[in-house]
Amino acid sequence: MDIRVNMALVRVHAVIHPDANPDVSNERVVDLLWEAKSLGLSDADAGHSQPPPMFVGEAELTHWWEDGQGLAASLEEMRLCSSCHDGTGHPCPIHG
Ligand SMILES: [Zn+2]
Repeated sequence: MDIRVNMALVRVHAVIHPDANPDVSNERVVDLLWEAKSLGLSDADAGHSQPPPMFVGEAELTHWWEDGQGLAASLEEMRLCSSCHDGTGHPCPIHG
């Protein structure tokens, strides 16, 4: 699981190099959180409803993965919503 390994590397690097630029580290963490969200979305499409076991110990990764699952559910709901597909090209008030 590349996301989890890379998150561990970022954490270790921050400990080993406490004087390193924190913005670079934070930017990398944000990238990994977005990757976790994207994985949650694709896992939902693949029918996986449990977060990757290796996310244990990184609550933020799990949280963002769950966000991805929620996004997948919302997209599926919109896909099935007839009001979102009324030909106007705009989502209905509920999903807009
Ligand atoms: Zn709708």
